[in-house]
Amino acid sequence: MIRITEEVRNAGSIAVSGHIRPDGDCVGSVMGLYLYLKKELPEAEVDVYLEKPAEIFDCISHIEDIKSEFNNVDTGKIYDVFIVLDCADDRLGEVRVLYEKARKKINIDHHISNPGCGDVRIVEPERSSTAELLYDLMDPAALDEEIARALYIGIIHDTGVLRYSNTAPHTLQVVSELIKFGFDFSKIIDDTFYEKTYVQTQIMGRAILESVRFMHDKCIVSMVSRRMMDFYQVTPQDLDGIVNQLLAVKGVECAIFMYEIRTLEYKISMRSKGRVDVAAVAMRFGGGGHVRAAGCTMNGTYHDNINNLAIGIAEQLNIE
Ligand code: 5GP
Ligand code: MN
Repeated sequence: MIRITEEVRNAGSIAVSGHIRPDGDCVGSVMGLYLYLKKELPEAEVDVYLEKPAEIFDCISHIEDIKSEFNNVDTGKIYDVFIVLDCADDRLGEVRVLYEKARKKINIDHHISNPGCGDVRIVEPERSSTAELLYDLMDPAALDEEIARALYIGIIHDTGVLRYSNTAPHTLQVVSELIKFGFDFSKIIDDTFYEKTYVQTQIMGRAILESVRFMHDKCIVSMVSRRMMDFYQVTPQDLDGIVNQLLAVKGVECAIFMYEIRTLEYKISMRSKGRVDVAAVAMRFGGGGHVRAAGCTMNGTYHDNINNLAIGIAEQLNIE
């Protein structure tokens, strides 16, 4: 078994990063590994780069250490090791310049759409989350409450609180070890997963109200425009959870949610109850993810995008 410490043993400088628009697994994994490496390699310089996480993740220790200012990210610094978590190098965003220069590149991920990048590639699609995979690469004796809490958040978010089908017996074993550290897991679930601000609840309501079913009611789609986001004063992070709510509709096999990034550019989120492989649909448009949860960015009008996505979905549902 590859233990992460072995891979970085002699490194003087290490950078850890994850994907743009970081979700719970990304933030939890990146912070869990950062805290772990700081503890395991006290002599090394360890930096953590990520787009600023949502405020709900402020419960993770040392979250303020994250470097989120990318204006002058390329200082010419060459890291001994650069570790990419929960994605491949193509979703690193502006930090990619530092990754490219690093002496050794490590990729740890669980996305089936990720072929892996760099010198050491640990991509295990059967894992519920990158956080679960990281746990197995860490020395259990070196874990502490702060690291456990970060990894726990990662697992909880990518499994929908241990509810999605990616939750395996091993996932629950890992979780059982993590909660032995005694943090208030119930509060973490409420505060980071279920609690919504008033405007988040309002815009979710609006998106559900304006949703449309098609393909014999097997698909449901909704969209939030730039104007709507400005009206409610919300950011893309505030739209998390809408697509899952759409999928909960009885009879729906596949849910599509999109929000406008800018004119004629949309971020797409898709969810499936299992019959449709939405990762395969997303990959047609340069995106990726998992069988039941995937995404991509598309150019074109809202209706063109739906039509283009619908072709891939209809094929899988055997609908003309
Ligand atoms: P979400 O819909 O929550 O943004 O993403 C669902 C899943 O698809 C996550 O695992 C996420 O990492 C992945 N995903 C979302 N958008 C993209 C994308 O543009 N490219 C790739 N490769 N994966 C994506
Ligand atoms: Mn993940």
